[in-house]
Amino acid sequence: MSSTHEVTNQVPPLTGYDPIAGDAVLAEACERHADAATLGSLAGLGRLAGSEQAQEWGRLANENPPKLRTHDRYGHRVDEVEFHPAWHDLMRTAVEHGLAGAPWAQQSAHPATPEHSPYAHVRRAVGYLGWTQVEMGHGCPVTMTYAAVPALRRNPELAARYEPGLTATAYQFGLAEPTGKQGLIAGMGMTEKQGGSDVRANTTRAVPQPDGSYRLTGHKWFTSAPMSDLFLVLAQLDEGVSCFLVPRVLPDGSANVFRLQRLKDKLGDRSNASSEVEFDGTTGWLVGEPGRGVPAIIEMVNTTRLDCVLGSAATVRAALTQAIHHARHRRAFGALLVDQPLMQNVLADLAIESEAATALAVRLAAALDAGESAFLRLAGAAAKFWVCKRTPAVVGEAMEVLGGNGYVEESGLPRLYRQAPLNSIWEGSGNVIALDVLRAMGRSSDTLAAVSDEIELARGADARFDDAVKRLHAELGDPEQLPVRARRIAGLLALCLQGSLLLRFSPAPVADAFCATRLGGDWGAVLGTLPAGVLTRDVVERATVGGV
Ligand SMILES: Cc1cc2nc3c(=O)[nH]c(=O)nc-3n(C[C@H](O)[C@H](O)[C@H](O)COP(=O)(O)OP(=O)(O)OC[C@H]3O[C@@H](n4cnc5c(N)ncnc54)[C@H](O)[C@@H]3O)c2cc1C
Repeated sequence: MSSTHEVTNQVPPLTGYDPIAGDAVLAEACERHADAATLGSLAGLGRLAGSEQAQEWGRLANENPPKLRTHDRYGHRVDEVEFHPAWHDLMRTAVEHGLAGAPWAQQSAHPATPEHSPYAHVRRAVGYLGWTQVEMGHGCPVTMTYAAVPALRRNPELAARYEPGLTATAYQFGLAEPTGKQGLIAGMGMTEKQGGSDVRANTTRAVPQPDGSYRLTGHKWFTSAPMSDLFLVLAQLDEGVSCFLVPRVLPDGSANVFRLQRLKDKLGDRSNASSEVEFDGTTGWLVGEPGRGVPAIIEMVNTTRLDCVLGSAATVRAALTQAIHHARHRRAFGALLVDQPLMQNVLADLAIESEAATALAVRLAAALDAGESAFLRLAGAAAKFWVCKRTPAVVGEAMEVLGGNGYVEESGLPRLYRQAPLNSIWEGSGNVIALDVLRAMGRSSDTLAAVSDEIELARGADARFDDAVKRLHAELGDPEQLPVRARRIAGLLALCLQGSLLLRFSPAPVADAFCATRLGGDWGAVLGTLPAGVLTRDVVERATVGGV
């Protein structure tokens, strides 16, 4: 209460909900690709994700960004980054709930043991999608730890040494000899000043040593989460670009050379540290064959791309949840916003985008559980292109639903908005990933066959979908100027996959509106342009998270 007026028509705080079990779309996807017990195992994480406590961790971790300490008070180099305690709370929660490397151990555990899970990757994907809605920055090291495991397995000796720490559900921050730690975090260093997409242009050099290790000299222009224990790093050998494991602390307990030059001053992702690093006689061990660094690190990159899709789907979902919550409590011109036809159109359009992103993201994770590597190679790249590209537009529109309040930092929407473009930039920027979609199809006919099989499952369910599939095949059948058309192809491929999933698994109003707009073209150039006749109230109702 103020002395001059009564505060009315402001929405209540959005807390005390469960973004996992309370989200019908996510919960259904989990049950579809795993089972009810898997969903049930995420109950604690879901409740925490919707709590005031976790929201406060997210705020604090972003308002108190990491600080670089290059030297100690006596002038010795320490190359450490300090984080606010809230960052560690976020990280601990993610790791302890199995969102980092744990699924690999759960998947490969003997089926007769309680550790084994046939749905380990889906469980983790659903948990990640729900939990990172709280705070996106810490998702980066969680992702890289998850993604490092399959790449590291190319060197069984190193995997035996470090995989138990990477797949552990314990978070132990701080520089120490990795095998003595309860849990490990991993990062990657590929991008250099002269180029990130074209890693073959890397200039960092590695020199073999008599003891089987290598000494690396050069730099990395972007290395996120520099306080991680282990890094997969690209460097040149005479044979070509090669992949190395670089620990921050060596087996004898001494510090490896890992000079942090600066932290990046980024648009968003502010809770997470992204650094510039210099290597000067830095010790590393080869992962994979000499000169075969790209195929080695691509194992990691393919998995981080899955998380780009999950993270973007989470960003979209977080923004949508805020928008619906606001519209359900805010009145204008005598009625709640959520009851006004044009606002329903906007919210329903956002909800359709979110449902399509979520369905595709969880389907990709299921491919990891099922060992569908050909499907994942192509569908993962197309989804990375499309879902990440859609995110800034969706978050911007969701922000507008909150009016001026949405533009104000306290609402949380500005943080989502700043984060929104990132997943499209890293791990293959838009053009590079679209070209990679062509490469994935060109290298092997299995990838397109696997994705086509999935798309075909909905053939005949909707004429607009069938027409879109025909257009896709026409695009693919035309060999002329493929690179110019790469974005069209990648986008259409992702849309056909989303259409196939929604037609089979979503309620008719959602699938019908998706086909009318995204596939049939009955849509405007901005969101909120669904054609009249779409059951927008039903679509928004479905997207309303229980308890909000
Ligand atoms: C917050 C953040 C964190 C990051 N963390 C890490 C990290 O931990 N480790 C790491 O190694 N890297 C990291 N990166 C770097 C990131 O992966 C690279 O920025 C990205 O791969 C692009 O490389 P680049 O910046 O050198 O751009 P470039 O490779 O120069 O590309 C510039 C533009 O040109 C386009 N392009 C490139 N080639 C073609 C082509 N043949 N045809 C058409 N268009 C093309 C690209 O799509 C892009 O839009 C991070 C980046 C950010 C923003």
